[in-house]
Amino acid sequence: MPVQPRVDLESLPDYVAGRTVPGAIKLSSNETPGGPLPSVARAIAEATTDLNRYPDPTVGKLAARLADKLDLPKEQIAVGCGSVALCHQLMHAMCAPGDDVVFAWRSFETYPIAAGIACANAIRVPLDATHTHDLDAMAEAITPRTRVVMVCNPNNPTGTANRRAELDAFLDKVPSDVLVVLDEAYREFVSDPEVPDGIEYVRTRDNVAVLRTFSKAYGLAGLRVGYFAGPKQVADALRKVYVPFSVNSLAQIAAMACLDAESELLARCETLVAERDRVRAELIDAGYDVPDSQANFVWLPLGDKAFEFSEHTLANKVVVRAFQPDGVRVTVSHPEENDLFLHAARSYRRSS
Ligand SMILES: *Cc1c(COP(=O)(O)O)cnc(C)c1O
Repeated sequence: MPVQPRVDLESLPDYVAGRTVPGAIKLSSNETPGGPLPSVARAIAEATTDLNRYPDPTVGKLAARLADKLDLPKEQIAVGCGSVALCHQLMHAMCAPGDDVVFAWRSFETYPIAAGIACANAIRVPLDATHTHDLDAMAEAITPRTRVVMVCNPNNPTGTANRRAELDAFLDKVPSDVLVVLDEAYREFVSDPEVPDGIEYVRTRDNVAVLRTFSKAYGLAGLRVGYFAGPKQVADALRKVYVPFSVNSLAQIAAMACLDAESELLARCETLVAERDRVRAELIDAGYDVPDSQANFVWLPLGDKAFEFSEHTLANKVVVRAFQPDGVRVTVSHPEENDLFLHAARSYRRSS
């Protein structure tokens, strides 16, 4: 008999990354346009001389910087090889086989994969009619088997965000032994003041955690670094299931250089947010339905036309991300790239 990997893995979806097509503009992975800041690139270049050494396995300096920035004890921080890796660690750290993980759907595609690899049940709760997390339904989906609830705020791929009042009400309903993880990969693009900073909840509630990343607003998607802030015992467990040395030394150095240049990076986000609002307004003007986005992308709920739309923009040299049969996610970029996308979106309307 041939060797046989776990049979249940066959039923798990593969993680599908946004496509890269040579010669086309890539608006399919929510990356920030423009390379790293010169100061960050310099710090990375200087650190290459030490690449014969292992990285700090505790990621101590970066964790201390983050603790300082967030005004939390260092013990409540865990740094990971991207927040995708932290998601996997969370499932391993929290779930025994057969436990439940509750999340909205459609949401970030890592959740069902990470839950499945950890032998946990993925419980999907449909988004509401406005493409937003239905927090009442999510609270109702919690059972004695539930260990973790993922709340992607703002939600990937729809860009919608839940506000403070509804999150407060939701958290009041969640049992104290269920961990609520606010995935705030896009926090830096939130412009609605009613959307709370999840760190406030980490400070005031014992069962709330936040995931953040350097991949989006900080522009380090290629280096892989993200972090968790939450209950100390969960952070400890995440460190236990951490793959040793997986946050590499360049990632650690680059993330700290980003924190040094934070105001410059956040100014870039403001420009991007203005572009996001312009892109949305122009799409609505062209006849599209586009939910309010608090992230660096917009969502077109095109249903089963999603794939067709993405093929049309591709023919116009713009790569977007189709989630057949729900809709299309389009990353906001520089104005010239956004204009090329808008041009393709208008011509699709005329041709369909
Ligand atoms: C992009 C993204 C992440 C970040 O992933 P990294 O592994 O840190 O690159 C996490 N959560 C969501 C919802 C995302 O969209």
